[in-house]
Amino acid sequence: MGKRSANDLHLARQQMVDRQLKARGIKDERVLDVMGRAPRHLFVEEALADRAYGDHPLPIGEQQTISQPYIVALMTEALELGGRERVLEIGTGSGYQTAILAELAQRVYSLERIRPLMLKARELLAELGYRNVVLNMDDGTCGWADQSPFDAIIVTAGGPDIPPPLIEQLDLGGRLVIPVGKSRLSQDLIKVVKSKTGRTTRTNLGGCRFVDLVGRHGWSENNGYR
Ligand code: SAH
Repeated sequence: MGKRSANDLHLARQQMVDRQLKARGIKDERVLDVMGRAPRHLFVEEALADRAYGDHPLPIGEQQTISQPYIVALMTEALELGGRERVLEIGTGSGYQTAILAELAQRVYSLERIRPLMLKARELLAELGYRNVVLNMDDGTCGWADQSPFDAIIVTAGGPDIPPPLIEQLDLGGRLVIPVGKSRLSQDLIKVVKSKTGRTTRTNLGGCRFVDLVGRHGWSENNGYR
């Protein structure tokens, strides 16, 4: 198949929004709007571009994946972004989620542990004109202390527990969303809210499956099952 027309892409995105997001309960109009516009097909390999708006994750190289559209929407909605937030993202991957966040918040700080993925995402996001994103290569389980506190934190890889530095670096009134599972094969999507007085409460948003969160407060690198 040749290049898809702007009209085809628009249609593919609208169908994704209607059938995958709205139909499953995503309500935040800002999230629906930005996911109906963001060029997800540019964040996957060219050979997979035809499947970019399908209801599934896709490989992005280095044994990592771009999350399924519904999961991106669910996590983004849970962050309750109004436009003025400073957001920390752990697991830049393709940079697609980063772009969505950049449209909905004031500034996005994103950490990725695999250098080629970080460099590729940085280049693409710059090409697309995103000026409010800062990408770095580091172990995100330790957070980004220099830039903390954050109004919202999103982790797009699954670990055995919530890394304590991320709770510490969350501002009063802030939201954290992270997949947590004692097994590497499945997780629960956990939302943590830190109240104005510093008390944290946790809600389970449902089951999910992510690639491993690898790092000091995540899984160990050499303990894989691949
Ligand atoms: N949001 C991304 C998801 C990519 S998959 C997207 O939609 O494209 C998760 C990413 O988390 C992988 O690229 C993986 O390398 C990265 N990752 C895993 N552990 C990490 C850690 N401790 N710090 C930073 N990135 C990490």
